Amino acid sequence: MPDPDLRRFALNQATIPALRLDAAIAASARSGLGGIGVWRDRLEEIGLPAAKRALAETGLFVPSLCKSAPLTEPEGPDRRRLMEDNRRALEQTAEIGADCLVMVVGGLPGGSRDLADARAWMREGLEELIPYARECGVRLGLEPLHPMYAADRSCLNLLAQANDLCDALGPQAAIVADVYHCWWDPDFKNQLRRAGAHRIASFHLGDWLLPTRDLLLDRGMVGDGVIDHARIREWLFDIDYEGPFELEIFSELDWWRRDPEEVLRISIERCRPLVTAKEDA
Ligand code: ZN
Repeated sequence: MPDPDLRRFALNQATIPALRLDAAIAASARSGLGGIGVWRDRLEEIGLPAAKRALAETGLFVPSLCKSAPLTEPEGPDRRRLMEDNRRALEQTAEIGADCLVMVVGGLPGGSRDLADARAWMREGLEELIPYARECGVRLGLEPLHPMYAADRSCLNLLAQANDLCDALGPQAAIVADVYHCWWDPDFKNQLRRAGAHRIASFHLGDWLLPTRDLLLDRGMVGDGVIDHARIREWLFDIDYEGPFELEIFSELDWWRRDPEEVLRISIERCRPLVTAKEDA
């Protein structure tokens, strides 16, 4: 039975990678979670029909499908192949019933030092995908990543940048805001307000550990790091955010080594106060 407190709460499946997607869906449902964030490679592992069956049996929602192919490659066969993959990803987003495809837009293409050029290609790629997203009935979920990933993963690094793009791209573009990537930004609160509740497709939770031992795979459980989640939750109350919360922890050194049931239990313990609706809080 879904726990009413947790109806907006999803584990991003990357938090419990030991489980196959169908098992992760079943475990999430048993724990009372409302949803699950899905990854394309893990979806392809079991196939769409099996995933849809598991979702239908449990009633779990899918806040987002992760993730897009890079958009920053300049014109040529590589870019055409990547854009084709992005169109396929948008179709999968619709097929799995997710609101948005998480856009991890790519960093500098090989050998380049031209960040402005990478950002121009990103924008062009987004513009090209918007009509197809509309056709599929899904949104492009622009997720700014921490600037330490600007070279290799995403040259979209600020919520302000994502808001500017959404202003230009229209309602088929949305924001996936992740505290892990944005907590340090002096403009975080203002840009959430500027986005408004509707533009935020999903809100990702996690914590910044001190020390961080790995650039990519050492994210912390909510409460174990330095992020002031309670304050950020207040900002979301202030803009009447009623969308999903996804806990997303890439943690090769800790959480990925634990029993997924334990991860689920502790995730719920830590996140329950953040993910309950305003009137229940
Ligand atoms: Zn995220």
